[in-house]
Amino acid sequence: MNNTIDLKNLTIKKTQGMIKNREVSCRSLVSAYQENTAKKNKDINAYLEIFDDAFEFAEKQDKKILAGEEPAELSGIAFAIKDNILIKGKIASAGSKILEKYRAVYDATVIKKLYGKGAIFLGRTNMDEFAMGSSTENSAFGPTGNPYDLERVPGGSSGGSAAAVAMQGCVAALGSDTGGSIRQPASFCGVVGLKPTYGEVSRYGLIAMASSLDQIGPIAKTVEDAEIIFNVIKGKDEFDSTSLGHLISKRTLNVQNNQKLRIGLLKYDRRGVDNEVNNIIDESVKILRNLGHAIEEIELPHLEYSLACYYIIMPAEVSSNMARFDGVKYGLSVKGENLLKDYMETRARGFGKEVKKRIALGTYVLSAGYYDEYYGRAQKARALIRKDFKEAFDAKKGNFDIILSPVAPTPAFKIGEKTEDPLQMYLSDIFTVPANLAGVPAISVPAGYSLSGLPIGIQFIAPWFREDLLFEIGKQYEQNSTA
Ligand code: GLN
Repeated sequence: MNNTIDLKNLTIKKTQGMIKNREVSCRSLVSAYQENTAKKNKDINAYLEIFDDAFEFAEKQDKKILAGEEPAELSGIAFAIKDNILIKGKIASAGSKILEKYRAVYDATVIKKLYGKGAIFLGRTNMDEFAMGSSTENSAFGPTGNPYDLERVPGGSSGGSAAAVAMQGCVAALGSDTGGSIRQPASFCGVVGLKPTYGEVSRYGLIAMASSLDQIGPIAKTVEDAEIIFNVIKGKDEFDSTSLGHLISKRTLNVQNNQKLRIGLLKYDRRGVDNEVNNIIDESVKILRNLGHAIEEIELPHLEYSLACYYIIMPAEVSSNMARFDGVKYGLSVKGENLLKDYMETRARGFGKEVKKRIALGTYVLSAGYYDEYYGRAQKARALIRKDFKEAFDAKKGNFDIILSPVAPTPAFKIGEKTEDPLQMYLSDIFTVPANLAGVPAISVPAGYSLSGLPIGIQFIAPWFREDLLFEIGKQYEQNSTA
C-alpha cells in the first residue's frame, strides 16, 4: 500500500480527504514517511530522532476509524517537531549538548492541541543550538543538508523542520521564529513558513531563546496547510501570560475571497541583495498586479536599525534565559570543586560557541553603566520600528493591507560559507527580523528558483492579528506563481 502513496503531492488537505474517505490508513501514511526518511535522513540529517511510537499512535487512530468513529481533523497527519518544543517523555535537546539527555516532563500547549486533533509526531528535528543561527550549522549534532543541494544549508534555525518537509519526511512541521527561523529555512527549502503575531500562539513548552520575540509556527507545503495548523495551535493559553487570544475574537475585518489589496513593496537597497532574488520580487509584483492588487513602494524609515536593535535585545534576553542551565535544574551536570565551579564547568562544556558568544554579549549590554546606552536605546529603536509598521497599516496614513519583501538576500548558501564571518551570517536575517521586533505576522511563500535550481521565497507581512490577510494573499499568489 505504501508504494501507492504519492508523498510528493500529499498535503494536509489531501490527506484529510483520503482519511475521511477511508482511502488510506494512518499506519500506511506513517510507514510511508518512515521508509522515505530511513532512505534520506542519513544524508540530510533533518531528524535528530525518529520516534518509535508513531506507528502505535497511528494504529490507535485506525482502530477508532475502523470502529466507525469520524476521523479527527488531523488524524493521520504526520508532523515533525523542532527539537525545542516539549513532548512529554521525549528528549528535547534544543540542538545542544547541555540538554542532550533531557526529557520533557510535560507537553507544550501546541503539542497538546495537535494531539487533541489526532496528529502524529514522527520525530524531532535538527536546529541551531537554542535556535541561535541561520543555517543549522550551530547544532551540536552536525549540520543539516538542503534537500535541493546537499552541499548547501537548509537555513535556520528551524532547518531540520524545513528540510523534513522538503524531503517528504513528513507532511508538515513546527518551527520557532525569533528573528526569521521559520521563514528563512522555508524560503531556502521551497516550502511555506508562517511566523504568527506575537501572542497568537502559546509559547508554553517552547525552550525560550528571546522571550519577547519567540513565536511557534507551522512549516508546510501549502498556504492552506499552514492555515489549518495555525487554526489548531493558536489561542489564549493560561500558561503563557503573553498569549493574547482574547484580541482575536474582537477581530471584525474578515478578508473576503479574492479581495483586492493594497500592497506596499518594501523599499530596500537592491545592491545588497542577489539579483536572482531581486528578479523574483519584480516577477511577484507583476503577478500580484495582474491579480488586480494595487502595489506601491513603501519606505519604513527605521527598518535600517532593525539588525542592530535585534542584536542587542535578542542577546540580552538570551543571556537571562540561558541562566537556568546551571547543572542543577536541567540536563548536563558537571561537578567541580564547589558550586561556582559546577556552574562554570557545566556551562563551559554544555554550551557551544555561538551560545557562549551571545550570553557574553547579552550580559555586557545589560551590565550597569551600559544598560541605558545599549539596551535602553535598542528598546527605543524597537518602538520606532513598531511605529513604522503601525503607520504603514493605518487607514489614515499608509493604508496598506500587506507589505511585500524578500525573505532573505540570497538563496541557500554553501555549508561553511558564512561560518567564519558572523556579520554575513547575521545579515541573512535583515528582512525577517523587523516582523519579530514589531510583533506582526509574516509568511514566506515559495516564489521561484535560482538558475541553479535553488528555491527562493517571498515574504508577506500583515498587521497584528491579520493572519487571515496573509493566507488570502498567499493562496492567491501560490495559485498564480510558477513555483
Ligand atoms: N538567525 C537569527 C539568529 O541567529 C534568528 C534565529 C531565530 O529566529 N531563532 O538569531
